Formats: sequence, structure tokens, C-alpha cells
Amino acid sequence: MDFQERFATEAACLDYLAASRWPEGFACPGCGGRRAWVLERRHLWECAECHLQTSVTAGTVMHGTRTSLRGWFWAAYLVATHHPGISAKQLQRQLGLSRYETAWLILQKLRRAMVAPEREPLKGEVEVDEFFLGGLEEGQKGGRQRGRKALCGIAIEVRGQGSGRLRLAVLPDASGDSLGGFVQATIAKGAIVHTDGWSGYLGLSKLGYDHRRRSQLTEPGEQLLPRAHRAVSNLKAWLHGTHRGVGDPHLQVYLDEYVFRHNRRRTPMAAFQTLLGLGSYHSPTTYAEMTAHRRTAA
Ligand SMILES: [Zn+2]
Repeated sequence: MDFQERFATEAACLDYLAASRWPEGFACPGCGGRRAWVLERRHLWECAECHLQTSVTAGTVMHGTRTSLRGWFWAAYLVATHHPGISAKQLQRQLGLSRYETAWLILQKLRRAMVAPEREPLKGEVEVDEFFLGGLEEGQKGGRQRGRKALCGIAIEVRGQGSGRLRLAVLPDASGDSLGGFVQATIAKGAIVHTDGWSGYLGLSKLGYDHRRRSQLTEPGEQLLPRAHRAVSNLKAWLHGTHRGVGDPHLQVYLDEYVFRHNRRRTPMAAFQTLLGLGSYHSPTTYAEMTAHRRTAA
């Protein structure tokens, strides 16, 4: 409720966007002027000195939208905080949208923001394992039937007794090439990598990792890779709760969404900002972008 009160009007959303873009107050990207007129309906700040117009939605997911900013803010908030992840149907109801397609499109755009920021490699000490998803699906008559299984890789940072950042990927098989490729794509060289005794991991030392194998034979009764196992069981519960019968083509998208949520579970406002595309705010606006605004404004 606090969130909905804070962003109850388009003006409040615009103020937030302006404050994110100009934390020290308005500064004209053309002349450096500090005073501006606000053209609220078009999301434009016009410099009082040189009349250059800057859009506060440029570079965000909301640019050129016909949905209200309030709608976008509320959608991003729900997607960032709702556990388990929200469906297009639920979003349509929450936003009071007449068309399902609009809700679906908003959700797709917000979901796209969940992939890109996950590219900083894992560091320090990491548990790596592989596991199967699916295999059993609810049948037509309520019984369970055998469906297709998908092999996935998991890498999760060790942070004291707890877990750090997470990565998940659909794998073609459990060969040394596939697992080595997954590790190289997700973990920085030189990191300590814990795995079980599977032979597919034998090449990791050669790839530049401090590889430590653990096996049930040498450590009977020990729980090997506890963080990876905990994350996998949470993932399975989440998938079961939201997206029943996940088909192979979309599986990586859901894995990315789960990783995004896991990695920002303690910073919901950062998740909200990333989803709306406000993270890109501090990269400079290109000249072409600014002149384009000027031309449409003239
Ligand atoms: Zn100016």
C-alpha cells in the first residue's frame, strides 16, 4: 500500500524518474542549465536557457508507451516483489487492463530486463552441480505421466553459511565439454569450484579453476554441495507454483527470472529499478537521441 500511495499519480512517477536521472537536480545535457519547464504529458523536461527537451523515459522500458507510468511502476513492483512470479493474467487483473495482450507485453518487456544484468562472473568459492527438471507432468485425468526432462547446470557462490549469487542454464548433456563451457561462462577463472565426483568435471583444473571434488565415497553421510541442493529444491517449488508444465523452449527464460529474483532477494527496490530500465540512466544520452527529441518537439 505504501508503494501505491507514493506513486498514486503520473506526476509522482515523473518526479521519481527525474530524480533518478538527475540526482542533484536538473542539468541540461546541452548547455548545463539548471532550470527547466516540465511538459508533463509528454514526459519532457525543457531547458529554460537553450530550450533543449529531454525525455525522462528515454532509455527506459517505458519509452513511447501508451500505458500510464503508474501502470508500469505498479507492474514492475509486482514483478520485483511477488513470490512466486506473477502471470500475465494476474497482472491484467491487478492493473485493471481490458486487454490481456497489453499485460502480456508489459510482462515480456519487464522479463527481458532480467537477463542482461546477470553477466558479472561468479567469484571466490562456488558450488557447481547438474540436475533434471520436469519428467513428471499432470496428466489429463489427474494422474501423472512421463514428460520430457531437461538437464540444467547450477552454479552458486558460497558466502559463509549462506549463499551468494546464482546462475542457471539449460545444458545439452553432462559431458565435460558442456559442463566446462557452463563453468567458463558463469565463473571467473581462479575461483574455487566444488563439484561432486562426476567425471564430466575432471577438466576444470586445466581450464584454470581450483577444482575440489567431493564424493559420497570419501565423505559418507556428508551433505555435498548443500547450497546448490537448497537452491534447486527452491527452484522446483517455484516452477511448480507458477508455471506448470514448463516447455523446453521457455525454460531458460524462467531460469533467468528465478536467478534475477534470487540475486536481488534482499534488494527489491534495486530489482524494481532494473526492471524499469533505470539502471541505464547514467550512461550518456547520445546526441542523435537528443536531436531526435528536439525535432519531434519543434
Ligand atoms: Zn540547455
